[in-house]
Amino acid sequence: MYAKRINRIQPSATLEMTAKAAELRAQGKDVINLSVGEPDFPTPKNICDAAVYAMENGYTKYTPGSGMLDLRVAVCDKLERDNALHYSPENIIVSCGGKHSLYNACQTLFEKNDEVIIFTPYWVSFPDFISVTGATPVIVKTDPQAQYEPDFDDLEKNITPNTKGIIINSPSNPTGGVWSDLAMQKVINLAQSNNLWLFSDECYEQLVYDTHFKSCASFSDYDKIVTFQSCSKTYSMTGWRIGYIAGHKDLVKGMSRLQGQSTSCPNSIAQYAAIEALSGPQDEIQIMKDAFKRRRDYIVSELNKIEGITCDTPGGAFYVFPDISELLNKKYCGSPLNTPNDLSMALLDEYSIVTVSGESFGSNQNIRLSYATSDKLLEDALNKLSEFVSKID
Ligand code: PLP
Repeated sequence: MYAKRINRIQPSATLEMTAKAAELRAQGKDVINLSVGEPDFPTPKNICDAAVYAMENGYTKYTPGSGMLDLRVAVCDKLERDNALHYSPENIIVSCGGKHSLYNACQTLFEKNDEVIIFTPYWVSFPDFISVTGATPVIVKTDPQAQYEPDFDDLEKNITPNTKGIIINSPSNPTGGVWSDLAMQKVINLAQSNNLWLFSDECYEQLVYDTHFKSCASFSDYDKIVTFQSCSKTYSMTGWRIGYIAGHKDLVKGMSRLQGQSTSCPNSIAQYAAIEALSGPQDEIQIMKDAFKRRRDYIVSELNKIEGITCDTPGGAFYVFPDISELLNKKYCGSPLNTPNDLSMALLDEYSIVTVSGESFGSNQNIRLSYATSDKLLEDALNKLSEFVSKID
């Protein structure tokens, strides 16, 4: 029934787990959802007010396909202010979320016989963005002890005449890893010397806890670096669906052509809200960041107290990716735990804790926990996790 391209796409494991949590809640279960990829804070009031203003004043019509000029100017100002990047509106296209930006950029540049490098553990959507174009995702290893920076021998080995691009994501989903400047510079040098597109997904840029975030494009003026950004995580605007890229103007033109014939334009009201988000007061970001850092420190320390679990401290985002391999090939109350998925499912069935198993991110020894949830729920979840693990033998 389906065209081949649809069979190349897997359902999103994280969205599936979120749906599962909602289903269990509807059955009256007391679910603790540690699978969420969104801040647990409300969208700041000034941003909501800007949307109300837009609705009440008739800004409810189609906008230019690549986003309103005022928003693209606000994006340029934000990139200058936060990232020391100098772009003009012709380098910017606003889409319906960072996911849409990535999807469109892959569609615009990649096709059959191309290879695109991603790093494992990878965000669940990266392989699918690539394979739906007909290109092949090529998976490169990383070092879990060094914030999941690339294994550079493996990276160099995997660059072939067919390689067309590299996608990086620091801070990372699922690991929370933040790459050092040196690792970033090495990847840029390799991309440039091989004339590759370098997509830098920076949607967690504001959630870096131990160092200062530096945008990939600020290291070099190589013009095939494309910066992907989103309002989702920074401003707790996941449902508003606003993301954007900054990059080569010809790439922007190609993506605009595709967007014009698919979504026409991003939502006009959300675009007004995004102008306020990017240009208005930024203090709520720090409040969220402080809460996430506190929770990160708490969850890492609690996880490491549980025998059989080890967890390095991730430098950013709101995920931890503990190694649970010592708990595998054992049994929980008689049921075998052979894979991270078995463990994640047993935790869901027995304790109603929702996690995401590592397989969907390319790992067979980890699970992903999001700490974008209240301190109280986090504490409950860790107590239950500890009890669960104590019953594994
Ligand atoms: N990139 C990464 C690494 C993500 O984790 C996500 C969301 O979970 C996105 C991009 C896309 O976010 P959005 O489409 O809400 O902007």
